[in-house]
Amino acid sequence: MPRKTTISHIKCDVGSLAGHHIVPKSLLNIADKNLKKAKEEGLINSYYVFNVGDDLQLLMVHENGEANSDIHKLAWDTFQEAANKALELKLYGAGQDLLKTAFSGTIRGMGPGFAEMEIEERGSDPVVALAADKTSGGAFNYPLFRIFADPMNTAGLVIDPNMAGGFKFEVLDTIENKKVVLKCPEEVYELIALVGTVQRYMISAIRRARDDLICAVGSVTRLSQIAGRYVGKDDPVIIVRAQHGLPAVGEILVPFIHSYLVEGWMRGSHWGPIMPVGLKDAKCTAFDGPPRIVALGFQIANGKIASDDNGKPMIADLFDDVAFALARREALKYASMLRRMGEFEPARLGPEEMEYTTLQQILEKLKGRFKPA
Ligand SMILES: [Mg+2]
Repeated sequence: MPRKTTISHIKCDVGSLAGHHIVPKSLLNIADKNLKKAKEEGLINSYYVFNVGDDLQLLMVHENGEANSDIHKLAWDTFQEAANKALELKLYGAGQDLLKTAFSGTIRGMGPGFAEMEIEERGSDPVVALAADKTSGGAFNYPLFRIFADPMNTAGLVIDPNMAGGFKFEVLDTIENKKVVLKCPEEVYELIALVGTVQRYMISAIRRARDDLICAVGSVTRLSQIAGRYVGKDDPVIIVRAQHGLPAVGEILVPFIHSYLVEGWMRGSHWGPIMPVGLKDAKCTAFDGPPRIVALGFQIANGKIASDDNGKPMIADLFDDVAFALARREALKYASMLRRMGEFEPARLGPEEMEYTTLQQILEKLKGRFKPA
């Protein structure tokens, strides 16, 4: 029987250095200590701790399946410990995403975002984990459509017989909390009709149509729907499998040679250009951005991330490359254009999204001053 391995990518804003800039080393150290211990105890087989801007990211590989309470508790306890340290250091937004107090078996609905995928290991299983800061789950709609449904992006859709039959997209309506599955290429126009509305409909999973092989799983949450108020953007992660009848790694990356606009950026209230960067540049500065995205490539091998001679997981920092320099330049150009507009739409998000922000308090104050026109 093929081996079953689970990839769990769980992230949380536990507090950050200098506003919403980065997770400092002392918090990353806490995560590293806890995951190292969990590995020694055999709960997980491999891990990689990193940050994208102010989000602490725990990438773990194990054999306990999805939604495993020990794995989720490990992440939850780690985030709590890091948040306590952040509090002690008076870092900004300490424990920002920890919306509940008591852990009850799963991290779902508690604030942290997670993407999990149990796979049957193939002969070789390349995986790309994409993680973004200062944006939301809808930011992945456009590239996921390009990767899995657009033959102008993914050559394999045209020339690889193993991809014939297309892919099934699970789309979440984040307002009604309902989901629908659409099959491409047959329903490609319907898919775009839905996921073009990036603030409401978000692609949560993709399967290969002919055999239901799991190809991609995203963290799709709306923190504002959990908390009932603005508590930061959801800063999504997604795990995508590549090659052998799935899009090639290069086909997963190529949509990012150009920048495009996503919601988020300053106070989660603006449209901003996504900027693909290496880990060294995964920090948010100008107007708390522009929104950054990293792509980490690795191989799953025998229940672990394939490791080097010293047992260190081998991670490819895929956007740390000159091939994405054009997108970074475009992002700066779009950023300067949008910022010139200040608080005038469409630089700022529309009224539905602003409902969850402090803008409401300002509007409330003016209410009594309105007279019939
Ligand atoms: Mg963040």
